[in-house]
Amino acid sequence: MRSKIVAGNWKMNKNLSETKALLEELSEKLPATEAEVIVAPTFVNLADSSRMLKSSKIKVAAQNMHFAENGAYTGEISADMLLNIDVDLVIIGHSERRAYFGETDELLSKKVKAALAKNMRVIFCFGEELEERKAGNHFSVVESQLKNGLFDLPAEAWQHIVLAYEPVWAIGTGETASPEQAQEMHAFIRKTITDAYNASIANEVSILYGGSVKPSNAREIFSKQDVDGGLIGGAALVADNFISIIQAI
Ligand code: PEP
Repeated sequence: MRSKIVAGNWKMNKNLSETKALLEELSEKLPATEAEVIVAPTFVNLADSSRMLKSSKIKVAAQNMHFAENGAYTGEISADMLLNIDVDLVIIGHSERRAYFGETDELLSKKVKAALAKNMRVIFCFGEELEERKAGNHFSVVESQLKNGLFDLPAEAWQHIVLAYEPVWAIGTGETASPEQAQEMHAFIRKTITDAYNASIANEVSILYGGSVKPSNAREIFSKQDVDGGLIGGAALVADNFISIIQAI
């Protein structure tokens, strides 16, 4: 169901004591909100985070997972391992996974299916590179990422999907898509889903924007009609900044 969401992707930051300190501060300062608030600490701290937030409104997500049930995949983590520590949300397809770890649309599609098969919810990330935007190919790139990653899913699966449009040129760069650019792309995404499925699926899916969202620009971006919240990197690492972004929604 379409809802407002603010999710923090902590990436490879925060050791265990820093993780606990940040979660404590977030829990203390969390404002009353109807938005869903999610944090994605690093794997090694997920079990502690999940325990700490057991009765909290803040939910815990993993930053990645493997598609296999188990087996000889050194260094990898399965859906069952996440579920076993009460983590039923996973980020799949982050641009850093695509760029630095060679994750292809085909691999991501397998991961999405593996997560959904276990009744997990997926935050599926996608977005164009700067060169692709400059060449005017951003719509076709996004369309093909959606098609290859998600469009062979059955209609019912979409209730477990959250989309995160993250233009790669805006991630960690301080450069943000303008609210108009975000809105334009989010509307395009809904139209693409309408064409592939139907308007009800397109209107029910939450579409987050990600890319240098901070307290100073969050309100304007979130005010756009097709933007349902944000996936936040750098600004999620400082409690007061993340809290301000939650307040902005
Ligand atoms: C991200 O990594 O998903 C992200 C949006 O990072 P940042 O907010 O730092 O640009």
